[in-house]
Amino acid sequence: LTSRLPAVGTTVFTRMSTLAAQANAVNLGQGFPDFGCERSLLQAVNDAMQADFNQYPMMSGAPVLRNAIVAKIAALYGHQYDVNSEITVTAGATQALTTAILCCVHPGDEVIVIEPSYDSYVPAITLAGGVPVLVQMEAGADGYTVPWSKVAAAVSGKTRLIVINTPHNPTGSVLRVADMDALADIVRGTDVLILSDEVYEHMVYDGARHESVCRYPELAARAFVVSSFGKTYHVTGWKVGYVAAPAALMAEFRKVHQYNVFTVNTPMQHGIASYMADPKPYLELPAFYQRKRDLFREGLQGSRFELLPADGTYFQCVRYDKISSQTEAEFAEWLTTEIKVAAIPVSAFYQQGKESGIVRFCFAKQDETLALALERLGKV
Ligand code: PMP
Ligand code: GLN
Repeated sequence: LTSRLPAVGTTVFTRMSTLAAQANAVNLGQGFPDFGCERSLLQAVNDAMQADFNQYPMMSGAPVLRNAIVAKIAALYGHQYDVNSEITVTAGATQALTTAILCCVHPGDEVIVIEPSYDSYVPAITLAGGVPVLVQMEAGADGYTVPWSKVAAAVSGKTRLIVINTPHNPTGSVLRVADMDALADIVRGTDVLILSDEVYEHMVYDGARHESVCRYPELAARAFVVSSFGKTYHVTGWKVGYVAAPAALMAEFRKVHQYNVFTVNTPMQHGIASYMADPKPYLELPAFYQRKRDLFREGLQGSRFELLPADGTYFQCVRYDKISSQTEAEFAEWLTTEIKVAAIPVSAFYQQGKESGIVRFCFAKQDETLALALERLGKV
């Protein structure tokens, strides 16, 4: 069989989690919490099952959940989506991203991807027959920023889509108002669409606000906005997320969605919908994770790791050039097998494997887990 994705192997997350398990290391690699979710969320799903919400929901998602999503977006970002035609519940953000790309990218279309980038974007573009056009973020004293002049220069007559991700995995950077204005300037007067990956929307720190594309009517009018309950409610294994988009875009999205997954499991949708009635869990998330971020950063202060800014997400990137001249993949493997703390090489988020001497840790862990990891990292 001739591979449709010849450049693709097993994801770095799977590889590093496997290695972490083999080495009995503290796994700060793959991004997922090592603590449970709220019992009331489990109860809500249980109640939904007991109430016999166990058959196929509507293709677009259970109306109760779509209503809750519309209300949340309106309350937080001031954009009113139509519940029937502009929201679709998906099997996690990954499916939403891939489906959005497949529904609008034609063979030969160019898609601008900002690197380092989450690992699912480029394979999805490739499957669609699209051509990824890569623009690299710049890493300065203030952390990673998007060079919008380079994004503007990358736009051509063939550009179909620009993919953005804020808060950003793996760098932890967040886009600001000036970034959104720059993006609006670039797409104004073109038919370029936007795919905005906002799975970490509720993890922005130091009092900053999340610049959702939904806040910008001009951008929202041409955007697929993607999020995931896995991140927000500490249930990454549930794989329930959603996409919001104007009706014309959503109609195309659903054509692909209905023959890809058709629908997403019913009881989780009902359970999440009733849990969402209370905004507290996501409103309290920044404080919850900021405390863990600060604990982790303070713990690394005296070490030979150099901390990069961490303004959002549950990731902390560190430079290790005072410790080793190994490649990022080598260093992450060494940390996992010898120091017994797993990390992710940031090079895995570049198509050409750019080396920056930086690895990523996930701090979505119990305080005891972080303390054990810090004790080990402090000795490096
Ligand atoms: N986008 C980004 C930036 C992510 O970090 C993740 C989770 N690792 C996803 C998408 C996928 O989310 P989900 O698990 O809901 O598919
Ligand atoms: N999004 C998670 C991360 O960046 C992992 C998701 C996955 O394993 N595909 O670590």
